Amino acid sequence: MTSPRNILITGASTGIGRAIALDLASRGDQVIGTVRKQEDADALLAATPTGALPIRSLLLDVTDGASVLRAAEELEEQLQGAGLHGLINNAGVAITAPLEYIPIEDFQLQMEINLIGLLRTTQAFLPMVKKARGRVINISSIAGRLAFPLAGPYHSSKHALEGLSDVMRLEFRRYGIEVVVIQPGAIRTPIWGTAAKKSAEIGKKLSRQALKDYGKLIQQVGKASAQAGENGEDPQLCADAVRTALDATRPRTRYIVGRNAKIGMFLRRILSDRRMDKIVGKGLDLKDRTL
Ligand code: NDP
Repeated sequence: MTSPRNILITGASTGIGRAIALDLASRGDQVIGTVRKQEDADALLAATPTGALPIRSLLLDVTDGASVLRAAEELEEQLQGAGLHGLINNAGVAITAPLEYIPIEDFQLQMEINLIGLLRTTQAFLPMVKKARGRVINISSIAGRLAFPLAGPYHSSKHALEGLSDVMRLEFRRYGIEVVVIQPGAIRTPIWGTAAKKSAEIGKKLSRQALKDYGKLIQQVGKASAQAGENGEDPQLCADAVRTALDATRPRTRYIVGRNAKIGMFLRRILSDRRMDKIVGKGLDLKDRTL
């Protein structure tokens, strides 16, 4: 009997991370999910599919270097010399606000979680991935290729993640480590609600002038995002893509996930920037303003 693959998934408490955790556990992998609260660790363990190896958890906040190192040490001990076959960098948030006015600390937080935290986590766990000649799978987004107004912080983090992943792929090749990018479109998860809450918090910090300039657009985008979340596709699609990327002898470098993502990426490829702007901006308050 061969030993199960050890797979670490960051941000496994909800949404896509949780779907990946349950899916891989049900296929016989030893899943370790990272969470930020003990109650989420307990819930993940309780959700272990029948007959699967119990889903283990590590407490980890990607923005906290000490917590990342602690979690890596803990896992190294648990693995007793075995390696990590998959590191799925999934933890992420979406922060939206006009670039003209977003408080810089909110922009920094977005980059800290989605980009710098991802690199920090990869650095800490890479020695274990090397041991198994495993795979690093980064959950990016079509937001890493497309752009929508007010999602500047999120797009910046995901566009940067696309570049970071390309360089990781080139650099980690020397260890036999494949690096794969997953690019989902809108998926039905709690991220949309969390983003709306965060956006409202930032809204409270915006000046009267900022609200005069962008208030209408903020409302329009808020409504469109809520709809996109409600109509989002099943997180299982992302789990399917991750499993394919882990199982393939030679994985693709990128997997576009979901119907809306495939359409969006196709249009992005064939249309000019200005044509895309027209499509994306349809019905939104983006027109010229007389100062
Ligand atoms: P969820 O909000 O459901 O899950 C986000 C996960 O990230 C949670 O487990 C959350 O933990 C964790 N997380 C947030 N901040 C931190 C942090 N500082 N340290 C560690 N973990 C953290 O969202 P999704 O499942 O939708 O998102 C997962 C990934 O998928 C993200 O990278 C997102 O950008 C990407 N994505 C999502 C799409 C969608 O439409 N849903 C589309 C394309 C990409 P906690 O519960 O403790 O907050």
